[in-house]
Amino acid sequence: MTNLTQFIQDMPKAEVHIHLEGAIQPETVLKLAKHHHQLDKLPGDTVDALRNWFTFTDFPHFVKIYVAIQDLLRTAADFALIAYECGADMARQNIRYRELTVTPYTHTDHQDKGLTIDDILQGLEEGRQRAKEEFGVEMRWVFDVPRNLSFGDNGYSPYAATRTLEFALAGRDKGVVGFGLGGWEPGAPPRHFAHAFAAAKEAGLLCVPHAGETLGADSVWGAVNELQADRIGHGVRAIEDPELLALLKERQIPLEINPTSNICLGVYRRLAEHPFPHLDRMGLLVTVNSDDPPLFNTDLSGEYAVLATEFGYDAANLARVARNAFAVAGLEAETKQRLLSEFDAWAKQTVAAST
Ligand SMILES: [Zn+2]
Repeated sequence: MTNLTQFIQDMPKAEVHIHLEGAIQPETVLKLAKHHHQLDKLPGDTVDALRNWFTFTDFPHFVKIYVAIQDLLRTAADFALIAYECGADMARQNIRYRELTVTPYTHTDHQDKGLTIDDILQGLEEGRQRAKEEFGVEMRWVFDVPRNLSFGDNGYSPYAATRTLEFALAGRDKGVVGFGLGGWEPGAPPRHFAHAFAAAKEAGLLCVPHAGETLGADSVWGAVNELQADRIGHGVRAIEDPELLALLKERQIPLEINPTSNICLGVYRRLAEHPFPHLDRMGLLVTVNSDDPPLFNTDLSGEYAVLATEFGYDAANLARVARNAFAVAGLEAETKQRLLSEFDAWAKQTVAAST
């Protein structure tokens, strides 16, 4: 494993399922809190205290932290800071490309912070470009609809989805490449959101809803049939339906899998029960991702380490899975080809030597 640890670190990596707000490191949370004079809202003013607070205990605690982090994002400069810090973290792990999910609706319409979509787009763009110049890393955005904020006493309201689509379309020249759907699946089936996903697809955005995480195969069927999903966020519970597995395999619809997140949120009790290696062996197109890394005490390298230690992946298999994340990325063809060529050149040199 020591050799594989180094191999994983050196491997040029990409990830397509990670939430920008959920990727903010404790150090950055402290910076934001100090800047906005909100330190008293946090359980401590040291990185250790925050790291301790970040430790995953249960879903309500996870949501509480998430909301507290969101509340600290108040200006364009804040978004520039978190995008830039995200780039620094990519450089640290040798991640060449990240497609990050952002939920603008929760910062604009849902909260009274006076923040506009222009502020958010401007901040994200500034941070992304600075990170690119300084670290040579590429970032793109997926704007996702918070599914649970789309239902009220009168049932489904299209407002959050319509607004998010409007935001995503406004950001197409600033790195927005995809349209997503996130949150707790029960009570919020995909079909309601079909209107927005059809329009997103028509406009050329990649459709990447979360499904098959907190609910089973039906939710994934909905994502495929009702939303014409180009990739599935999680999708692991497709394992419960052979017919669905056959379809995902035949169409090679990529799954964005996050093993540690699934254990933390109780989708599986332990890694030994996680279906990742089975889905891969059956010929589904799998990718490995970190979802909300500091909140699950992981990072992308840690997720590849899970493949090595828990599922017995060797260097060649780690590289095969790692390549998938570049191959399914939603960025423009030219840059994607460059990243894939870089990866292939590295793999050609390195993998044979490691096996
Ligand atoms: Zn997610």
